[in-house]
Amino acid sequence: MRFIMAEGFLEYLKEWGKIGVFIGKAEFSQDFLDSDNPLSGLPFAVKDNIAVKGLPITCGSRLLEHVKSPFTATAVERLKEKGAFIAGKANLDEFGMGSSTDNSALQRTNNPWDLNRVPGGSSGGSAAAVAAGLVPFALGSDTGGSVRQPAAFCGVVGLKPTYGAVSRFGLVAYASSLEGIGVLADTTERCRNVFAVIRGKDDKDQTSKDAPAEAPPLEEKNKKGMPRTIGVLSTSAIAKAIATPAVQESAESLKRAAQAAALEPEVAEGFEKAKATFADLGYRLVDVEIPSLKYGVPAYYTIATAEASANLARFDSVRYGVRPDWAENPDDLIDKAREAGFGDEVKLRILLGTFVLRSGFQDRYYLRAQRIRAGIRANFEALLGDAEYNQPAQIDAILMPVFPTRAFGRGESSLSPFAQKAADLYTCCANLAGLPALSFPASVEKGLPVGVQLLGRAFAEATLLNIVEDYEKVHPFPHPTGFKAFWDAAS
Ligand code: GLN
Repeated sequence: MRFIMAEGFLEYLKEWGKIGVFIGKAEFSQDFLDSDNPLSGLPFAVKDNIAVKGLPITCGSRLLEHVKSPFTATAVERLKEKGAFIAGKANLDEFGMGSSTDNSALQRTNNPWDLNRVPGGSSGGSAAAVAAGLVPFALGSDTGGSVRQPAAFCGVVGLKPTYGAVSRFGLVAYASSLEGIGVLADTTERCRNVFAVIRGKDDKDQTSKDAPAEAPPLEEKNKKGMPRTIGVLSTSAIAKAIATPAVQESAESLKRAAQAAALEPEVAEGFEKAKATFADLGYRLVDVEIPSLKYGVPAYYTIATAEASANLARFDSVRYGVRPDWAENPDDLIDKAREAGFGDEVKLRILLGTFVLRSGFQDRYYLRAQRIRAGIRANFEALLGDAEYNQPAQIDAILMPVFPTRAFGRGESSLSPFAQKAADLYTCCANLAGLPALSFPASVEKGLPVGVQLLGRAFAEATLLNIVEDYEKVHPFPHPTGFKAFWDAAS
């Protein structure tokens, strides 16, 4: 039995109610299964775009505010089979669109490190729940960084698995070709245990796969005691990625995008500390460049909005969803329901998506973005080896920043919606390339955690977890003031 409903836990939960994690009520039960599985008896939070039978599935949207799911996502089902139990549904940016969780139409979630700051997004509720010690792990979804960025903002571990490694059955689709269910956890070991349970082929999702039987060759090499090599995204590569392209120097929006993607000094500091720690641990560090990095955000937002415009067409409020009081005819009902039910960010993305898919424009935007996507993938494969493990790898993993800032505030100290999008450049490439990426707290700078991430070749999650575990041994992950642990260590 892992979770001891220790005295004081319910008060603790109430005390941390101020961060506003759960949509509806949290449910902590004391009837635990007793088994050998390390997850048995542990509570977990589920991002509210992942289905759990009988619980809300709001996706942070007014439109779905009163909807309950008639079935359960495969990842959740697998965790339940191992004895873990669902504590509650966690807040998110509406349909996973955003980087702050402030795009939720239903409630506000605060960062446990500083209640005046955002927890990051879109899996902000999941990250805040883990950071505050309300649950030891949570499920999130990552389409362009939504597990890793809130993990970085809240000082927890965030795993975005290889595309297809975890079934998407029961995940409400935003951009199907980019996204997957990911894990937020208090320790690397916990993250490993959760991933081991949720991963693998599922007949209900035809894009899900088991990992290839062969271990990545580099893992073999490492067993023989050779040093692991980490490719570090070099400062000059970062500078190139955010430099405004010369031809369009006058465009104000490009300049603003470049500013938004530049690392704030504290994040640069955390990144340097991570490099120094890996060097001390005996890793070989080499500078790498990813020339296509600077095209990541435009390609990501073209593809993500195109897919979102198609995926969100299903929300017409005919069979479920909030309906207008009055409508002239079925078309009018749909118009009115979507007008009242969707928030501004969602509407913006649906419009952008229909624009890039407009007949006659596909070559100009959508197909071009797909070509960039192929280029980004090729850049990564040249460094990490290919998905089939045929192409040799130069390095074991790539170390990159997660987000240019630490958790930002609201109002004056917030980032504009445009700046938030431009700042996705470090996270969205893993989604475009379908590769696994693991975000972890590198340091705490001026009272706020700084996360960094490791990217690996397809299905090499174990390599990333091993490396981060080495880091955690010398730098145990930090906690916000007031944090108490109510569960034993992972093993
Ligand atoms: N910030 C990204 C976006 O707004 C991340 C989304 C996600 O991963 N769900 O699209």
